Amino acid sequence: MWVQVNGKEQVCPVPENKQLNSLGLRGAVPLCHHFLRALVRPGDRLVDATCGNGYDTLLLAELVGEGGHVWAFDVQETALAATRERLFQAGWSERATLLAAGHERLAELVPGPVRAVVFNLGFLPGSDQACRTATDTTLVALSQAAELLAPGGMVVIAVYTGHAGGDTEGAAVLEWAASQPAKQFNSWRHYQLNRSATAPFLVLVERAK
Ligand code: SAH
Repeated sequence: MWVQVNGKEQVCPVPENKQLNSLGLRGAVPLCHHFLRALVRPGDRLVDATCGNGYDTLLLAELVGEGGHVWAFDVQETALAATRERLFQAGWSERATLLAAGHERLAELVPGPVRAVVFNLGFLPGSDQACRTATDTTLVALSQAAELLAPGGMVVIAVYTGHAGGDTEGAAVLEWAASQPAKQFNSWRHYQLNRSATAPFLVLVERAK
């Protein structure tokens, strides 16, 4: 590959397969991470309301840096153990507090204000599908999350409707987001047009500045 440098042609030093940037926006989770990378600053406080395999917690710990902090909830020990190990491998154990508690206790256990609260609903892939998020507790946690937000902060929710109960929970999340007062919050739904109707989608509620 040839490039122009100061009017002269020379071989481009960047390998051809590395020349294009890509956000890799396949599905709700990469889109969620894109918004978080744009929003979070070193030193922020963040919440992972459903740590699951720990991938979101790991990203949050990366983004807050040394001076920030992450509170991560899950009700399953396997999820907390996976998250603990991931943080340890990255050398970021100090950046996060793992809470063996339901996210409906958010207001009680997390000192606000926080820049973002992340939910990844449904069940942990490869584990007991009966242990999944539930409409009632999700709604309680979402209200507390919105209350806890710093101005400009956001609640991001990856919603899965393909399993039993998932469509009811998804509808409740949409209704909750849509009912937030427009003077104080901006509520969005994002879904991938060229995926099936049951593909995960992303709901984002931003607190106005
Ligand atoms: N559906 C996602 C993964 C979701 S993981 C995917 O396919 O990738 C959701 C996590 O939420 C699970 O680990 C589960 O244990 C946890 N969870 C269920 N109820 C919860 C609650 N009330 N508070 C916090 N975490 C909860």
